Amino acid sequence: MAEVKAAVIGYPVEHSLSPLIHNFWIDSYGLSGSYGAIAIEPENLEQGIKALVAGGYAGFNVTLPHKIAVVPLCASLDEAARAIGAVNTVKIDPEGALQGYNTDAYGFWQALVAACPDRDFTARPALVLGAGGAARAVCYALGAQGVKNILVANRTREKAETLAESFDGWAVPWAEREIAAREAGLIVNATSLGMKGKQALKFSLNYAHAGATVCDIVYAPRQTQLLKAAQARGFATVGGLGMLLHQARPAFEKWFGVLPEVNAALYEKIKEKP
Ligand code: NAP
Repeated sequence: MAEVKAAVIGYPVEHSLSPLIHNFWIDSYGLSGSYGAIAIEPENLEQGIKALVAGGYAGFNVTLPHKIAVVPLCASLDEAARAIGAVNTVKIDPEGALQGYNTDAYGFWQALVAACPDRDFTARPALVLGAGGAARAVCYALGAQGVKNILVANRTREKAETLAESFDGWAVPWAEREIAAREAGLIVNATSLGMKGKQALKFSLNYAHAGATVCDIVYAPRQTQLLKAAQARGFATVGGLGMLLHQARPAFEKWFGVLPEVNAALYEKIKEKP
């Protein structure tokens, strides 16, 4: 098999964990290929992608700030990318046309059910904090999996309303986010609060339903204050690393032809990376 080349594009991109994940799988499955990290400034996006096509790349992942800007450059989009309005995975077809996909929603849901296989997340409402790109992927996944009541709380109220409308959910005021957790079977932090270098998320679990699962899609740090507080009170918790690992699986399959496994060895390898 000829060497398959793939990469993640972003700006900045040097802190991306994607090269570690994909190169781990290339080695594990004995494949001939490589996966790099390529910084492309926003004003050079189209030119940078043309260079990948000319360079014979099989495709690429897309990270901040390009996930929305790549959409109009794609010749086709899968249903998730269309509904979310963002692309995180591109396959370059033999004619050099870009096929756009969004695997974040898949990754979120797969990680959730892998961590909590016995929970029925469709039985109760879900509360999503945030209304950015990641929150859109989370809401799409919840809707697609049959969660009927999706509550969205976001600092900027209009964005919560737009997101809730897209996925048949309900916007709740940011100031009422804690009380809104009363009935929720799932609470998801999809804001950037709690990330390394950002403020912590202020969220008291005093009102939360005792059977709720608390999920934080932030993965740097691996254990956010929200997750620590939830664990200390006996809630089931799910961190953001699983979503990151699971969203990579279908992307890898599109380029390398193998649907790889997320296993303990991969978790072990990535655990200590900043
Ligand atoms: P984004 O589009 O920039 O959205 C950021 C969100 O955080 C918005 O809802 C924003 O509210 C909110 N926010 C920011 N600062 C805030 C503050 N001081 N108080 C209240 N809310 C605040 O970012 P994104 O792409 O959705 O990413 C969000 C997080 O998800 C990041 O930490 C990212 O690392 C993580 N993520 C994880 C994965 C994974 O695989 N685990 C995948 C994608 C993203 P406003 O609308 O009011 O600004």
